[in-house]
Amino acid sequence: MSAAEGVACTACGQVYSVSSRFWYTCPNCGGILEVRYALNHVSRPPWSNECNGIWRFESLLPPVPKTQRISLGEGNTPLVRCSTLEKQLGVNSVWCKVEATNPTGSFKDRLLALLVSQARSCGATTVITASSGNAGTSMGAYAARATLRAVAVVPEGTSGPRVSQMLAYGVQVVQIKGHVAQAYDVVQWISRQIPGWINVGSTFLTPYAVEASKTIAYEVFEQLGGQVPSWVVVPVAAGPILVGILKGFEELRALGLTSGLPRMVAVQAEGCAPIARAFSTAAREVIPWGKPTTLVQSIADPLEGYPQDGTHTLNAIRRSNGIAVAIPDAAIQEAACLLAKDEGIFAELAAAAPIAALRWLRDHDVVARKETVVCVVTGHGAKDEFWGRVPMGPVVDASPRAVLEFLREVSLAGTAAPEGDAAASQSKG
Ligand SMILES: *Cc1c(COP(=O)(O)O)cnc(C)c1O
Ligand SMILES: [Zn+2]
Repeated sequence: MSAAEGVACTACGQVYSVSSRFWYTCPNCGGILEVRYALNHVSRPPWSNECNGIWRFESLLPPVPKTQRISLGEGNTPLVRCSTLEKQLGVNSVWCKVEATNPTGSFKDRLLALLVSQARSCGATTVITASSGNAGTSMGAYAARATLRAVAVVPEGTSGPRVSQMLAYGVQVVQIKGHVAQAYDVVQWISRQIPGWINVGSTFLTPYAVEASKTIAYEVFEQLGGQVPSWVVVPVAAGPILVGILKGFEELRALGLTSGLPRMVAVQAEGCAPIARAFSTAAREVIPWGKPTTLVQSIADPLEGYPQDGTHTLNAIRRSNGIAVAIPDAAIQEAACLLAKDEGIFAELAAAAPIAALRWLRDHDVVARKETVVCVVTGHGAKDEFWGRVPMGPVVDASPRAVLEFLREVSLAGTAAPEGDAAASQSKG
């Protein structure tokens, strides 16, 4: 059972009943809402194996009746120790939380499991969002299971594997003549006007994205045997993922299960880094970035129209005594290759950014050798156009001789080329 006792505004402090209503921002002041729990009603540890997916943590999630909950087995992702990275980076304990194994390939599945369940239990007929990325594909999968109609509003010309995946799930994709901030506005307007249409965007527009992201913290704590890492490194767009993970650890501390908190690292791409810029200039508030110039799409959010969301994340980073860093695309691409080659983890660029950031943090002596670092690898490589651009190399004859010759040229097979006749006869088999 959920121990939620209210929804509180982080700006004006007004508290509302959590009830069965789908909450957006504060009706009083437009501020970001946050779910509060009666922690004395939460069992310790706060998870069970009776429910699937994120619902294992039902006491620390908003109340959704069991019959309305949707799950595809999201979450419960592996926490993998990365000994090659430990050696390369000079850190004693490096772990990757591999969110790529979620049902549609990113941690957004945790969010949409909650958002779509909540929307359905509040009487939604249609869910709608402005994402052309991972949130849109997650919405598609969960809306399909919930038998709800799903609509994605995307900027003109958006295409690629993510949109194909949405179409496969039956999402009605609408292209608009405009950019993504305009798509956000359109979706907000429509969801306010049409009864039964609910905006399941994965931002701070609702309190649910943060609540679902929290479950990453609970799992890490459980998988580390009740330890809190020194650092958690997270790729950040507007930042509900970072705020959520920190909230998760704060709740574990409030429950008396631990006394420490991790320091949170927000990683952004140098070509779109409004939060990292505000951090490094010691600004009080985040301001919009302008046009992004980065290939790291999933975290390229200029925060146009909602810079206060970035400020909310900046405050969480500071509260944790953390740091925000901007990393060049080239270093992120290198980290993605390294993660695949040296650790067997195939990540999209945004998801590899924490590894690039960790290298930066070591070079600048921010992270010490003896510390424990968890990098959140937020999404799978398969959907990322970056990997589609990696060249294949030449086509050779279908014989062992030609294949081995090629391998020798790229100095993989040493001198193990077969003698002419044997190789030629084998190739007929
Ligand atoms: C959405 C997303 C992020 C950023 O999360 P926010 O909570 O929106 O800041 C990072 N990585 C991937 C793969 C994502 O899809
Ligand atoms: Zn308010």
